[in-house]
Amino acid sequence: MSKFDYDLFVIGAGSGGVRASRIAAGHGARVAICEESRVGGTCVIRGCVPKKLLVFASQFSEAFEDCAGYGWQLGTTEFAWPDLIAAKDREIDRLNQIYIKLLDNAGVDLYMGRGRLLDAHTVEVDGKRFSAERILIAVGGRPWVPDIPGRELGITSDQAFHLERLPRRVVIAGAGYIAVEFAGIFAGLGSEVTLAYRRDLILRGFDDDIRRAVEAGMQGRGIEFRYQVEPARLEKVADGIEVTFSDGSTQVADAIMFATGREPYTWDLGLENGGVHLGPGNRIEVDEYSRTSADHIHAVGDVTDRIALTPIALMEGHAFADTEFGNMDRPVDHVNTPAAVFSQPPVGTVGLSEAEARAQGLSVRIFRSQFTPMKYTLSGRTEKAMMKLVVDADSDRVLGCHIVGPDAPEMLQGFAVAVRAGLTKADFDRTVGIHPTSAEELVTLRQPVADSAAAATSTQSPSQRKRGDPI
Ligand code: NDP
Repeated sequence: MSKFDYDLFVIGAGSGGVRASRIAAGHGARVAICEESRVGGTCVIRGCVPKKLLVFASQFSEAFEDCAGYGWQLGTTEFAWPDLIAAKDREIDRLNQIYIKLLDNAGVDLYMGRGRLLDAHTVEVDGKRFSAERILIAVGGRPWVPDIPGRELGITSDQAFHLERLPRRVVIAGAGYIAVEFAGIFAGLGSEVTLAYRRDLILRGFDDDIRRAVEAGMQGRGIEFRYQVEPARLEKVADGIEVTFSDGSTQVADAIMFATGREPYTWDLGLENGGVHLGPGNRIEVDEYSRTSADHIHAVGDVTDRIALTPIALMEGHAFADTEFGNMDRPVDHVNTPAAVFSQPPVGTVGLSEAEARAQGLSVRIFRSQFTPMKYTLSGRTEKAMMKLVVDADSDRVLGCHIVGPDAPEMLQGFAVAVRAGLTKADFDRTVGIHPTSAEELVTLRQPVADSAAAATSTQSPSQRKRGDPI
């Protein structure tokens, strides 16, 4: 009989923690998990899931605008924010209950309360102490807000999901995933949106052509961009909140949203009691088996700040449980992680950007297409979709695949398998397209662009094409 209460104690019942505890229990381990907020974590409670529901809601305005071209005449449309938030909350409650049930079905003991390490084998939750042979830290991250006067007048994505009313004017600071996604949500629902960013182009780290295509699409939907500024001060004024930017200019809005990044939620976890060292930005440093500096203590998900995506936390938690309790050898591998940004237009991306490939000294061939999605032909919408392949000139392997446009995330998932499998451009070319779709463009890209930067502005660019035109 083990001298410990549990074989595994997990701190944090989000994506990574829940997956790890269920898999470990399935391997026969005696498992407990604790959660200080709600079971489901960032993704389910205040991230990917409610965000996507809000994205769906915001897309109706575009459909209403476009439907006239297809013969539909609509009467007056009205949108009720409180109805949307209530419906979203019901769905999140439902998912929360499902997650609780999954833990229960797996035989995992759930304790509600904040977990704290007392030593390398003891966790305290709400005054109760539990010993465990292994401990997994899966506490995730939380929004980070710059320390400026009046910052408490602003909101983050956490509050954006619970606003009492839709703000008429919104200023969003930052230009990463959350900033561009919420810009699209608010704009689609009818708010005036300004996105303020300290550099000169949104979505740093993504392929430059993709960044420009998203920016153009967002501008086409009425979103204002203010570059080279960041908020310096917030003040309450008669008709809203005034933000003073770093260049001295000011703007009044009903909501100022900070989407300025997230940080590992390592505060007051007692990590020092367990001998767990923190790295830069307070992240827990781990190796490819998610092992921390302390024997028997592992960490997965956003708290390790490797790649802050739900499927990555799931993969890390699953691999940890298989390795430690399932007698398998499963290091995690983050190469070619596909990602989507649910901006409007949305992005799907996997592998190297053109700039990353060139920075690695690779000789690349670039295939790129910009076209009007077929759905927009009758509606008259002028927005372009963009697809791009980064191909290794020596091996012909497709190193990167990047898509902007309707359904880009759905399309990208399949192409991510191809890139992950190391397929070549010839493999893509051998694949028969599905007609008429946008995705077929990726298997019919014939000519590499001569010079990438030049071709982007060239009159020879295929940007006048419409999807469905003969190719
Ligand atoms: P990101 O890291 O994506 O973006 C943060 C933004 O804030 C950047 O534009 C950054 O600018 C800016 N910024 C940082 N510090 C400051 C500052 N002091 N003043 C002004 N601006 C600042 O973080 P997000 O919060 O958008 O998202 C967090 C993570 O959550 C993402 O990295 C992603 O992994 C995940 N996520 C994934 C989603 C998805 O899969 N669709 C959706 C939402 C989130 P700069 O570029 O100059 O650093």
